[in-house]
Order: sequence, then C-alpha cells, then structure tokens
Amino acid sequence: MMSKILEIEDLTVSFDGFKALNNLNFSMNAGELRVIIGPNGAGKTTFLDVITGKVQPTKGRVLFKGRNIKKIPEFKIARMGIGRKFQTPRVYLNLTVRDNLDLVSNQNKNVLSTLFGRANNNETRTVGGLLETIGLDTKANLSASLLSHGEKQRLEIGMLVAQSPDLLLVDEPAAGLTDEETENVGALLLSLAQSHSIIAIEHDMEFVRQIANDKVTVLHQGALLCEGKMDEVQNDPRVIEVYLGE
Ligand code: ADP
Repeated sequence: MMSKILEIEDLTVSFDGFKALNNLNFSMNAGELRVIIGPNGAGKTTFLDVITGKVQPTKGRVLFKGRNIKKIPEFKIARMGIGRKFQTPRVYLNLTVRDNLDLVSNQNKNVLSTLFGRANNNETRTVGGLLETIGLDTKANLSASLLSHGEKQRLEIGMLVAQSPDLLLVDEPAAGLTDEETENVGALLLSLAQSHSIIAIEHDMEFVRQIANDKVTVLHQGALLCEGKMDEVQNDPRVIEVYLGE
C-alpha cells in the first residue's frame, strides 16, 4: 500500500465568519506531484498556510505522515519536513549562488541535525549535484543578484531541497516568468518529483499542463470542486464554468 504523506479531513478555516476553506477533504500519496488550481479566492493560499501551521484550522484534522499537526507551531512543522516556496524568491542577493545553497545545507546539517536530531529521510544531496539539478552549475560563483527572476526561483527551490524536506509546497512558481523560464521551472519540478512529494498551487494553465502528470485538485469557494487527471479536469463542465466566470 502507498503511504499517505498528507491527509486532511473536514478542514474549515473561518476568518471572522467567512469560510476561506469549507469542509475540505484531501489526501495525497508520498511521491506524488499534486497540482492545486482554482480561481482567485478559492482558498489555495489558505490551504498551504494551514499545512505549514501559519493558519490554524477552525475545524478538521491535518495529518502529515500520519501525525496530527494541528496546533504544532510553524517552525516545528518546518523542522518535521515541510518546506515552502513563496511566490517571491527569497534568496540572499549579496551571496553567490553556491553560498546560498551552502548556507542552508550547512544550517541543516549542523544546526538542525545536531540540535534537534531530525533524521534525513531523503539522501543527502551535495551542493554540486544540486547546482546541476537546478541548472545553475555554470553560475555557481555569480552573485545571486545577477540571476534572472526564473533563475532565482530555481535557486530558491534548490535551497528548499537542500534541507531535505519530505513535502515541498510551491506557491505559483511560474508567476511573472517568461515562457522559457516557466518551462525550466516546470522541468525542475518534474525532475524533483521523482524523489519528492510536491504540492504546487498554480494559476497559469499552460504551466499546469506541463507539470500535471499526477492528479490535479480544483478548489472553488474553499471546497473541493473536482479532482483527477488533467485531461479529465480541464474538460469538466464545472471547472470550465468557474474559470469562464473569472
Ligand atoms: P487563493 O489563494 O485561492 O486566491 P486565498 O486562500 O488567498 O485564495 O483566499 C481565500 C479567501 O479567504 C479569499 O476570499 C480571501 O479574501 C479570504 N482570506 C484569506 N486570508 C484572509 C484573512 N487573513 N482574513 C480574512 N480573509 C481572508
């Protein structure tokens, strides 16, 4: 049986009575690359906020590797193995590309493992291998400030991977990218998906088509609208309706 990396039961998040998420059920196997789509305001960001512990559920359960993470503080959830990539790259602009990766992988090795004894389930990646994976090996010694927006996105994804997360959350990685950069980021996610569990929330349907080999989950008004393979989902009349209504 495939193990579940994430199981969410009856999740409701209310902000002053407004339900950003409304009785949502969600389940994902380890090793999946799940894409979550839905119109603006569907609850996608709130969904990631709950998984990372930034927002507390009003109701429901969130199980990460079988363990209920409701009420666990955000920094501890990160240490348990959930890495999140925000829309805007957060790299150290005054460091080289390599130093950005070194910094977080050393932090992981020395600080996290020593102090908190977190076991690394994924094989430890060398920074050299990671530079190649993110396609920045020829730019390793350049200042991160000289990278294009797409390269910064890839660097930040590399910085997350350097911390060996069990689950990688990626928030609209194609936002603001050129077509070529979008394809590069998509190819990177597909290659990482061979060894990682990934949730990507995304608005750009071209990009979704590129990366959605596994299941796609469609949210609408805080609830599950439908779920399935991309070709099923994009022909679903309910999905067409909510996207046309935007
Ligand atoms: P998406 O990421 O799919 O665009 P969000 O999760 O950002 O959707 O938002 C879902 C709904 O919840 C929106 O209507 C938004 O205005 C509302 N919302 C999100 N965060 C808050 C908050 N902190 N306080 C009040 N309303 C919020």
